[in-house]
Amino acid sequence: MATADVLKPDFQSRKKHFIFSEEHDRLRESIGRFVEKELAPHAEEWEETTFPDSVFRRMGELGFLGLSYPEEYGGQGGDYYCNIVLAEEMAKCNSGGVAMGVAVHTDMATPPVFLFGTEEQKQNYLVPSIAGEKISCLGITEPDAGSDVAGIKTRAVRDGDEYVINGSKTFITNGHRADFIVLVTKTDPDAGYDGFTLFLVDMDSEGVIREKKLEKLGMHSSDTALLAFQDVRVPADAVLGEVGKGFYHIMWELQGERLIGAAGSVAGAQRSFDKTLQYALERKAFGRQIGKFQVIRHKFAEMATKIETARQMVYTTAWRFQNGEYPVREISIAKLYASRIAVEVADECIQIHGGAGYMKEVGIERAWRDSRLNRIGAGTDEIMLDVIGRSYGL
Ligand SMILES: Cc1cc2nc3c(=O)[nH]c(=O)nc-3n(C[C@H](O)[C@H](O)[C@H](O)COP(=O)(O)OP(=O)(O)OC[C@H]3O[C@@H](n4cnc5c(N)ncnc54)[C@H](O)[C@@H]3O)c2cc1C
Repeated sequence: MATADVLKPDFQSRKKHFIFSEEHDRLRESIGRFVEKELAPHAEEWEETTFPDSVFRRMGELGFLGLSYPEEYGGQGGDYYCNIVLAEEMAKCNSGGVAMGVAVHTDMATPPVFLFGTEEQKQNYLVPSIAGEKISCLGITEPDAGSDVAGIKTRAVRDGDEYVINGSKTFITNGHRADFIVLVTKTDPDAGYDGFTLFLVDMDSEGVIREKKLEKLGMHSSDTALLAFQDVRVPADAVLGEVGKGFYHIMWELQGERLIGAAGSVAGAQRSFDKTLQYALERKAFGRQIGKFQVIRHKFAEMATKIETARQMVYTTAWRFQNGEYPVREISIAKLYASRIAVEVADECIQIHGGAGYMKEVGIERAWRDSRLNRIGAGTDEIMLDVIGRSYGL
């Protein structure tokens, strides 16, 4: 290569990160094509109706629901970066609710089944989940306990060969459509953190009541349920993982959930950025493209800096996660920062669009409403700050 070529600045250079291989690129293309062809065209409609269950079946057929699960369970046998690719490409469907519904299934509810489940549980729950034949949800939050997971009240009491479950869960994504729930319960209220147990509960079990669909600020295409459990009897082999270890199991689960959430936040922010850049190059005011005003140009520079910083944090943390580390501090930083900048970027993108940004048809207001959830779900900003602060011994 000639020196002149080397020294020439290249603002268009590909943003491929070292964690991704050619195989990831091919996967990205294939998921991206599917998302743009089969999901994005329905974004408006699904905001009104919630997205159909057939999305899971279709994604199961295409192999997208088990990217990093072993082939013996119907998965693709890929690495963790494949899940990052999925989370990033799902942002192209223009509907945070669809991306969230799928992510709850692939990266929140099924990972504990894979890691802690017995072989029988994997055959009964993981295999059909990967195929898109069963839909899953995860039940941690309750009307009286969200951030304070240890404060949950849902009780599971042993009765012979069975457990009897009573309690309620709220804000449960996929709760109306799910075939099963990974349910966090208390089995021994006097045992502190050693008193929690996870269960796999079929949602058609007697005593499981799917109460009203909850109305939300954003994520309209997803279903969010208030659930009640009234004397639900499950066999003792419905315990997922170890009796009394449910708190630790779910704390492990939350790390993957947060990192995938962070990847989705960055991808959503990038989507808004790209769309707004296009607008700033087309829209004219006072005789010139609005993007050529220095104040607008600097807004893009600020946004690009935030997005790129968050992306690097997510990728580096994903690399550590893939290589067997459990970097809670870094995952919390990535989740906190990515969620915050996604809201800031969406807000700035509305501003750059002017009145059009406030209009539904443009879709930027939806990005703002959808991304707002990420500062709350899977651990609020305040909880992330506390985890990070405590990791320094404070
Ligand atoms: C659309 C949506 C989908 C969701 N999907 C699911 C799901 O599928 N499964 C599931 O289990 N949950 C789900 N959630 C619940 C979500 O994880 C909780 O809302 C979140 O963890 C916060 O809990 P909370 O709402 O009870 O708020 P609270 O815990 O009551 O917090 C209220 C406020 O107090 C602050 N606060 C609490 N404790 C502290 C502290 N120690 N220090 C400082 N500040 C504190 C919080 O940061 C927050 O600002 C969902 C929520 C929404 C909105």
